[in-house]
Amino acid sequence: MHLDRIDLADIHAPRAIAQAVHKQLGEIEPPVPVISIAKALDITEICTQRFYGFEGMLLTDRVRSRGSILANTKRGNRRARFTIAHELGHFLIERHKLFGPTGFLCSAQDMRETRKAQMHMRQEREANQFAINLLAPPSLFDALLSQDPELKDAQQLRDHLNVSLEAVIRHLVERRPECLAAVWSKDGHIRYWVSGDGFPWITCKRGERLSSLSVASKIVAKSSGEFSTFVDTNPIAWTNRSNIELFEQTRLSPSGHAVTLLWADVPDEDDNDNGGLYELSAPKFR
Ligand SMILES: [Zn+2]
Repeated sequence: MHLDRIDLADIHAPRAIAQAVHKQLGEIEPPVPVISIAKALDITEICTQRFYGFEGMLLTDRVRSRGSILANTKRGNRRARFTIAHELGHFLIERHKLFGPTGFLCSAQDMRETRKAQMHMRQEREANQFAINLLAPPSLFDALLSQDPELKDAQQLRDHLNVSLEAVIRHLVERRPECLAAVWSKDGHIRYWVSGDGFPWITCKRGERLSSLSVASKIVAKSSGEFSTFVDTNPIAWTNRSNIELFEQTRLSPSGHAVTLLWADVPDEDDNDNGGLYELSAPKFR
C-alpha cells in the first residue's frame, strides 16, 4: 500500500485528514486495513498485546519523523483496531503536543472523553474523531443505516467494519440527524453516556441505578431479549425536560452490559412565537 503523507500535512481537522486518507485509498472493501494504513504513513512498528494501565501508546518525536504504536488487546481486537487508529490520529495531527518526551500515553477514560475544556481532552477528542472517521467513513457507514434510529444497525456495522460497538454507537449518535443520546449501564447501574447536538440535559449520574421510570430498568430487571423495540418513555426518567417526546431502545447482553439509545423529539424553538421574549426585552430600548 502506498500513501503520501505530504498530502495530509496541511490538513488540520481530524475528519478531513481521515477523509484525505480515504481519498488516497480509493474504494475499499471493509474492514478498513488500519495496520497497513498506519505502516504506509511512517508507523514503523505496531505491537498489539495485553497491557496494564493504558489503552494505547504512541512513541514518536516532536516532528513525527516516524512512530511506533502499542495497542491493548485486553478489551478485544475491535477495540485494539480503534486504539491503533486513535494513536495514528495523534501522529498525523501535527499540532497535537506530546504528553511527555517520548510521545502519547492514552487511558481508556481519555479515549472516551468528549469534553472540550482542556487541551489534553481536546486532543483525545480529536484523535477519536480521526479514528472513527478512518474506520467508519461515510461511504461504508451510511449505507447500512435504517431510515429511523435503530440499535440493530450498530451491531451490523460493528461486524461489517470490525469496530467496537461502543465506537459505532457514539458515531451513530453524532452522525444521524435526529436528536439522540446513548446511555451505557452494567447490571442496572449507569456507566456513562454521550449525547448529540441539541439533546436535552441528561440527569443520569455515573454509578446510579437506572430510573425506575425508564423502560430500560424493566428490561434489565427481567433480563429479557437482546434488543427491545423503540418505545415511548417518560422523559423525566432520563432528562430534565418534561415537555418533550422521548423514545428509548435497549440492547442487553448476557453479561449485564446494556446500552440504551434515546431519541428526543424536541419542539423547534422557531415554531414558538418569540414575540413574548422580544416584548420582555423591549423596555430597555424605550
Ligand atoms: Zn490519545
